[in-house]
Amino acid sequence: MVVDTDYLVVGAGASGLAFADTLVAETDAEVTVIDRRDAPGGHWLHAYPFVRLHTPSAYYGVNSLTLGEDRIDPAGENAGYYERATGEEVCAHFSDAAARLTETGRVRVLAGHEHLTGARGGEHVRNLSTGELHDVAVRRKVVDARYLESSIPATHLVPFDVAPGAQVVPVNDLPACAGSTSSYAVLGSGKTAADACMWLLDNGVDPDRIRWIRPRDAWFYDRRHFQPLKQVGAIMEGICLDAEAGAQAANVDDLFERLEASGRLVRIDPSSPATMFRGTMLSARELEALRQIEDVVRLGRVRRIEADRIVLERGETKTGTGVLHVDCTALGLNNAPATPIFQLGRIVLQQVRHLSPSFNAALIGIVEAHRDNDTDKNRLCPPNPYASSTEDWPRMIGRTWRTEARWFNEPDISAWVASTRLNLLRALPEHAADPSVQAVVKRYLTHVGAAIERLKELAPRAPVISPAEAEA
Ligand SMILES: Cc1cc2nc3c(=O)[nH]c(=O)nc-3n(C[C@H](O)[C@H](O)[C@H](O)COP(=O)(O)OP(=O)(O)OC[C@H]3O[C@@H](n4cnc5c(N)ncnc54)[C@H](O)[C@@H]3O)c2cc1C
Repeated sequence: MVVDTDYLVVGAGASGLAFADTLVAETDAEVTVIDRRDAPGGHWLHAYPFVRLHTPSAYYGVNSLTLGEDRIDPAGENAGYYERATGEEVCAHFSDAAARLTETGRVRVLAGHEHLTGARGGEHVRNLSTGELHDVAVRRKVVDARYLESSIPATHLVPFDVAPGAQVVPVNDLPACAGSTSSYAVLGSGKTAADACMWLLDNGVDPDRIRWIRPRDAWFYDRRHFQPLKQVGAIMEGICLDAEAGAQAANVDDLFERLEASGRLVRIDPSSPATMFRGTMLSARELEALRQIEDVVRLGRVRRIEADRIVLERGETKTGTGVLHVDCTALGLNNAPATPIFQLGRIVLQQVRHLSPSFNAALIGIVEAHRDNDTDKNRLCPPNPYASSTEDWPRMIGRTWRTEARWFNEPDISAWVASTRLNLLRALPEHAADPSVQAVVKRYLTHVGAAIERLKELAPRAPVISPAEAEA
């Protein structure tokens, strides 16, 4: 079989689907979306059972389809904040999005199909259930929606050895295994590890029975500053705090001290230096709960788990056969280096505005639909790699502000940004008359110019790799 298409989108996760959704709405292109997984939805299909979005559903998913009902949660750790979809709800959203795209008659979604790279010339996909190989004739572009493919506990290669007798499970198996053990060791520093600890605490496990093995301590945003719609003033306040800290920071440590002092960022243990920054968030209630866990091991990454000890980069600690070790060490967001997003015959989806994966993929779709020249497209969408450490914050935030300024000089792009449901600031104009919103906008405008200049000085230049290197 030969598949004929204008665009071949490789990856039917949030990025591939949000891109296709916008491109199809804005053009008459024919699009083929493929994924080696057996359904659309990307990493969410294999997420742990208690996963939820950490951002509100209101601005996640594809543009043409709402996710959730913009309810405010009445109780629990998210009380007072906008609802966050469960993993199942996210998968259902992407399944509906794929079905609606197919109904247009211009989109083919081929799950269970793998894109083959490095094969003979042209594009080829393999049907993973039959093994059949198909040629794909691509009239316009191949869209790489897997360059930033997420690494998750269910599918990653466990980065340490496990000796016989040690109990180690991916976080996905925690609910099933939890009843059969006396205590827990949660491995990992990030949001997944925090979620695992929260799940244990919510299920009545005494904090003294949880050991948390954290190679690095992490900074988290306060979730309060990510509430859209009626609470959009809080998002603007958070951005204003970024600008104030950025404008005044003497160095990166000072920057993070300022962000912490203003309440923009939090860390679980303020007495311990934190160097990890992945852009994830916690609510004040989660923070309070997580602080009950006092048995924290800070000896670097785990190298080997044996029946009675854990060997780490900088030492070892005792464990036991009654301890369930919960693997939360997968990388999550992919740290791939920047490569141009628009290339000859190819689009490589990446982050542009920080922490807005759905928005970014849709934005790239809009720019592809309405601009002819790759230089211009790349000017509007420069890649902005995900952050891993505090050192990355100045580059990521500064680049976001410089890029946003370019959109505002382009009436069609800024009109789309103002209207898309994927823009977390969409409701700002409706609240522009509110004095508290006016005050934070004014503070932001006072500081953002100086912050952009200061952050350039604090930001090490991120290398941009060539298309060939990115493909290798
Ligand atoms: C646990 C977790 C929670 C998150 N929560 C949020 C959140 O609340 N809010 C937010 O904004 N972001 C969140 N993120 C960020 C997240 O990365 C994005 O939301 C998004 O889901 C990533 O989608 P993606 O399409 O870029 O990648 P993926 O979901 O990884 O999709 C890439 C797809 O490409 C496919 N693929 C790879 N190679 C091939 C090939 N050769 N042929 C065919 N198919 C291929 C893979 O099978 C995969 O399905 C979260 C991330 C994680 C890991």
